[in-house]
Amino acid sequence: MSDDLEQETLAIHTGIHRSQFNEHSEAMYLTSSFVFESAAQAAARFSGEEPGNIYARFTNPTVTAMEERLAALEGAETCIATSTGMAAILSCTMGLLSSGDHIVASRSLFGATINLFNNILKRFNIETTYVSATNVAEWEAAIKPKTKLLFLETPSNPLTEISDIAALSALAKRKGVWLAVDNCFCSPILQKPLELGADIVIHSATKYLDGQGRVLGGAVLGNRELLMDGGVFGFLRTAGPTMSAFNAWVILKGLETLKIRMDAHTVHAMKIARWLESQPNVARIYYPGLPSHPQYELAQKQQKAGGGIVSFEVKGGKESAWRVIDESRLISITANLGDAKSTLTHPASTTHGRITQEARDSAGITDGLLRVAVGLESPNDIMADLARGLSRY
Ligand SMILES: *Cc1c(COP(=O)(O)O)cnc(C)c1O
Repeated sequence: MSDDLEQETLAIHTGIHRSQFNEHSEAMYLTSSFVFESAAQAAARFSGEEPGNIYARFTNPTVTAMEERLAALEGAETCIATSTGMAAILSCTMGLLSSGDHIVASRSLFGATINLFNNILKRFNIETTYVSATNVAEWEAAIKPKTKLLFLETPSNPLTEISDIAALSALAKRKGVWLAVDNCFCSPILQKPLELGADIVIHSATKYLDGQGRVLGGAVLGNRELLMDGGVFGFLRTAGPTMSAFNAWVILKGLETLKIRMDAHTVHAMKIARWLESQPNVARIYYPGLPSHPQYELAQKQQKAGGGIVSFEVKGGKESAWRVIDESRLISITANLGDAKSTLTHPASTTHGRITQEARDSAGITDGLLRVAVGLESPNDIMADLARGLSRY
């Protein structure tokens, strides 16, 4: 597919490999293995002399189609699809790192990512040092001779802190380490980390890429040499956290509407964030699209828009926050995000409930904090839903 096409066109026309039936919508290939025309062809496929499918733990045409489409959107040479977002982070770290290596990571990471680093990779003698998402000097100071990987998410969850991808990419290049960016919150529509110099992009395709909360999936993207020869694909085809053809097909079709969905999520979130600013019982709003965000300038520079996640702190602590949740009728009470349905979470008692009060306080995850992942409903209806709990004081 030509490079000069725009993202919304690439999302619809990349990765199409029509079968003999010339189907218009992409076919789904539910098969675990592939047959060969001769013993010689089987041997050539296995030896790698002849490219082609062998077994679906390695490759499957539906998964390949999704990989090509997502790679086009991120501007990546290669995409490796995985069964979940966590499987993408596992494949990336197990593929690239060895015992004795060191990771520097943002303190503001998805909880399961921190668990993977602290409780699983650590058992294989891979240590992680955590630093502030926003302070580049802290990242630099934490890099040791054994450091191989810098790992971050931006904007972060739930406080929407912005890490400076270009500055950290420059640091990574200078120190000879890789920078991986979990691009889940923005998707390639709002942010392209590889263009800003990152080496690796991670996705939980479970979120915006599917966009309707149907399937789990993940992806690792970057240049071919790093991912194919560097060991990520080798880990996947051997260990098997592969994306299923069915999930790949759902995500492949989800990508076709990603641009219009992200645009709508963003417009709705902005409207709701502005409305929250005018609410007397809201003490503070965290949304990178608002000029009041402490890193508004940086967000404007590296993201196309603020995205779909708005966090805000209500006056009156946990009791008030829980009231807003319990008075809502439309918004789903769940920690998921990136869905057509809006969701509402109280991070202090759910996603961040297992860390100590002290750690939560120092991270800014107060008892009054709420996170809305703004869906595709009318923003007026979402505001009315939030207003019920917010006005009951
Ligand atoms: C959900 C999420 C993940 C993990 O993805 P799964 O598909 O649930 O495994 C990783 N990073 C971020 C930022 C997420 O929101």
